[in-house]
Amino acid sequence: MFSKQFRYYSQSVIYKIKYMKTKTVIASLIVGLSILASCKEKVSVEISNPEKEVKPPETIIKSVLTAEEQALMSPEEIINRLQKGNENFVNNDLTQRDHSEQRRISAIGQYPKAIVLSCVDSRVPVEDVFDLGIGDVFVARVAGNIENEEIIGSMEFATVVAGSKVVIILGHTACGAVKHAIDNTDAFSLGLNSLQGLLNEIRPVVEMKEGEVPSSKDEDFTNHVIHQNVQKTIADIREKSPKMKEMEQNNTLKIIGAVYNMKTGEVEFLE
Ligand SMILES: [Zn+2]
Repeated sequence: MFSKQFRYYSQSVIYKIKYMKTKTVIASLIVGLSILASCKEKVSVEISNPEKEVKPPETIIKSVLTAEEQALMSPEEIINRLQKGNENFVNNDLTQRDHSEQRRISAIGQYPKAIVLSCVDSRVPVEDVFDLGIGDVFVARVAGNIENEEIIGSMEFATVVAGSKVVIILGHTACGAVKHAIDNTDAFSLGLNSLQGLLNEIRPVVEMKEGEVPSSKDEDFTNHVIHQNVQKTIADIREKSPKMKEMEQNNTLKIIGAVYNMKTGEVEFLE
């Protein structure tokens, strides 16, 4: 029964092919062969992808920072490690970590080496940018990386109470908050009162030149304002936190500015 049906279908296919136009048959063959070729190409790309290389198990970090390790590191040493971590990020060579194990160990306490104040921008993944894992740093985020009482309070907690020795103010290229401050966007008229307050914090660093209207379309000028905004945040922190300023003078704390370049992944540390 089955063989009869199969013979019937085979004969009908042969009959159809026989009476198909030659051009149609050739076109079908070309399409079929190109699909096969593209499948083969895709497979070979996946096999040769270097990112899929698995690192040896002994290089996977399972530990977290301890109180002893935190106490032994100087601010300069911490900054050097963060710079090396950024090199790893730029080279797409991040340290592999056992997050489950790090989470389990760190549940009993934390001894982070630094606190980073970053913009909220989704394109600035702070821990990845410095190749860091669980328990390595405190991270505070606010659009335009400005300071306020709560942020400085968080920094005082991170440094004076929890022992971190470096404060990094991390600005970034193409920052939307800075661009709107440069262009003097009227957020208040849109009912965005709090956003207006935030832009007002950045606006004083936008230098006015006589006869010129500042514009975020000028990339060099925008980058200059981004740097100035980081420096303003640092000056404000020193002014509003006498304790952190004192620690800095005693060389037990370093407050440093930095700017993340979104195109290259590089962090420029400012002096
Ligand atoms: Zn930003």
